[in-house]
Amino acid sequence: FEINVSEDKKLIIKEDTLVMAGPCAIESYEQLLETAKFVKSQGANILRGGAYKPRTSPNSFQGLKEEGLEILKAVKKETGLPVITELMDARELDKLYEVADIIQIGSRNMQNFTLLTEVGKQDKPVMLKRGISASISEWIGAAEYIAVGGNQNIIMCERGIRTYNDYTRNTLDLAAVPIIQKETGLPVIVDPSHATGVRYLVKPMSIAALAAGADGIMVEVHPDPVNALSDGMQSLHFNEFEDLMKSINIK
Ligand code: PEP
Ligand code: MN
Repeated sequence: FEINVSEDKKLIIKEDTLVMAGPCAIESYEQLLETAKFVKSQGANILRGGAYKPRTSPNSFQGLKEEGLEILKAVKKETGLPVITELMDARELDKLYEVADIIQIGSRNMQNFTLLTEVGKQDKPVMLKRGISASISEWIGAAEYIAVGGNQNIIMCERGIRTYNDYTRNTLDLAAVPIIQKETGLPVIVDPSHATGVRYLVKPMSIAALAAGADGIMVEVHPDPVNALSDGMQSLHFNEFEDLMKSINIK
């Protein structure tokens, strides 16, 4: 495909490109509403925010859970933005289904086959994040678990894989974008926030992802990243998100 660059050297992206933006975790009504309004004003079309958070340590903030879903529901109503949020446990599916427009399966659960089977039986779109150490074949196999249940409405999300690189949280595998598109025909979203873990790398990797033909990006944005309860180091300040949106020509 073509890398399409306009006269002012800006990347031209597909009109229906998805920008999913919002905080890593839902922390309060005010935090989510402020972020949602801002990302919407900059052209984001889907609000992200975790209510159930899969944290490496049990001592870290685990998310507001049901209260987080209530906040997400209220902010969705207030802003009109569709929302994506992570399902960690099939026991939460009914509650999450009520609020989520897209159900996210996180990288830690990419091969949780019982969870994949459950979301395959329901009718909302599912975004399947690539496992931290998953090969492309394993990732496609996981998507098949969802599809065989009847739900073909699957979005694939490349969010970096673990390598020996010690400068970033993960290594963004951009070749996965055209490979998954070719092999499965499914849309592919790139998450440069978890792929890098580093704020200043989010913009260049977003641009690279769209140049590689990604159908969209998922970006963490927070009103006060330094005091975020999770993933502050990779979360964009509002002005950085504004700059990103200008550089990818969405705004
Ligand atoms: C997330 O997007 O909220 C998340 C936890 O990401 P990942 O599953 O890719 O680590
Ligand atoms: Mn996060």
